[in-house]
Amino acid sequence: MGSVSALNFTKPTQIPTQGEDSQNPSTSLLSFDTDSSDTSNPPQKRTTTTIFISLILITCIALSAASAFAFLFFSSSTTASDQKSSPPEETSRPLTKLNHPVVLLVSSDGFRFGYQFKTPTPNIHRLIANGTEAETGLIPVFPTLTFPNHYSIVTGLYPAYHGIVNNHFIDPLTGEFFTMSSHEPKWWLGEPLWDTVANHGLRAATQFWPGAEVHKGSWNCPEEFCMFYNSSVPFEQRVDKILSFFDLPSDEIPVFMTLYFEDPDHQGHKVGPDDPEITEAVAGIDRMIGRLINGLEKRGVFEDVDIIMVGDHGMVGTCDKKLIFLDDLASWINIPAEWVQSYSPVLAIRPPPGVSPWSIVVKMNEGLTSGRVPNGKHLKVYLKEELPSRLHYSASDRIPPIIGLIEEGFKVEQKRTKHQECGGSHGYDNEVFSMRTIFIGHGPDFARGRKVPSFENVQIYNLVTSILKIQGAPNNGSLSFTSSILLPSPK
Ligand SMILES: [Zn+2]
Repeated sequence: MGSVSALNFTKPTQIPTQGEDSQNPSTSLLSFDTDSSDTSNPPQKRTTTTIFISLILITCIALSAASAFAFLFFSSSTTASDQKSSPPEETSRPLTKLNHPVVLLVSSDGFRFGYQFKTPTPNIHRLIANGTEAETGLIPVFPTLTFPNHYSIVTGLYPAYHGIVNNHFIDPLTGEFFTMSSHEPKWWLGEPLWDTVANHGLRAATQFWPGAEVHKGSWNCPEEFCMFYNSSVPFEQRVDKILSFFDLPSDEIPVFMTLYFEDPDHQGHKVGPDDPEITEAVAGIDRMIGRLINGLEKRGVFEDVDIIMVGDHGMVGTCDKKLIFLDDLASWINIPAEWVQSYSPVLAIRPPPGVSPWSIVVKMNEGLTSGRVPNGKHLKVYLKEELPSRLHYSASDRIPPIIGLIEEGFKVEQKRTKHQECGGSHGYDNEVFSMRTIFIGHGPDFARGRKVPSFENVQIYNLVTSILKIQGAPNNGSLSFTSSILLPSPK
């Protein structure tokens, strides 16, 4: 699992500091001894020796006392921490007002892990403090793009299996183009949560989510409960729409709801992740979370709703100097623009039939590693089957045969143009830390103040079906994972 390798960045070891501390006392004793033996004055030497012996005796007594104290201290603290590590098992909390579990899945697009520290975010931090947080962020799927990730979150499938392999791509079997406004069911494989919920005769509501408008199985995007995507709907109105569902008679309240915000991704692309505009957008999202919490509290259901707050991916700054041009490879191979389905941050190339993808990969990598292509070493090209298996990015015809992995912050373009500018991007290898986003779970099924290690977003589907106590569709998440995040039901 990527989560394990991605966690290897943790704090520097403290061993050198401990070594220095433990050496200090012995170093000073040795220097004292050396100084006394160097002296040439006998009476002083005797006095010094007496003082030295007295000091040794005092030191011995002090050390014995200290070790006795240390023994008492450590034995008592061990007992205390033993008691701490095995508290009576915490279980999920009973609902006080609702008569069935409700999961509200909130996505803030491009909410890079760490944005929550850019500015005071009291509402997000309220969820964190009283809920369960992925302490070093949520790991997106590759490619770390909006549509593939949102659909992985609601299906538990990697893009190769749910079919949305990029924000735009071509189906090689039919030659048709997928765009972010394609709503035909044939593109959207797998079983999204709203469909799973509807299959169980339960109600779902979507205030935007990629794929939600698509009719699938028992889900026919019912009016009033399935809002068609419209970026001009103010965020406040989206929150209020969700809140209005809690004014329905108890039995009619949807068991699963989605709420989507385009920010701070929108700003991130324009100005990169470190601009004050991002700080303002993050504060804006926090205000929306505050509006949501207040509305739920007013209705007396805040503690009854399981809120899962996530992002789809992170963001990294990109600038003019970090560019790689395919035309610079002309001495090795000519890559016509018609072959290229996507440039950055995932280079995807489908050569015409009769042209060997393997020979293209070999020639491209020859050029890129030659030292004669500017920034060439920051792009590595693969046959999709030879990509690192942790990316799970080969088992679909929709993924072109040649995929280039671009290093964080670099961009691939066909040829030099005059106008280049700085901004932000995402889509890179999901092992890159800047691509990470947030996960917070708050509500009756999440422990308060718990920190969990980072995990991949394909695990979220099972979390939701587990909270709702419904049978989910087969997926790439693991059922045992849910028990490491959710509180067990009372026995
Ligand atoms: Zn984006």
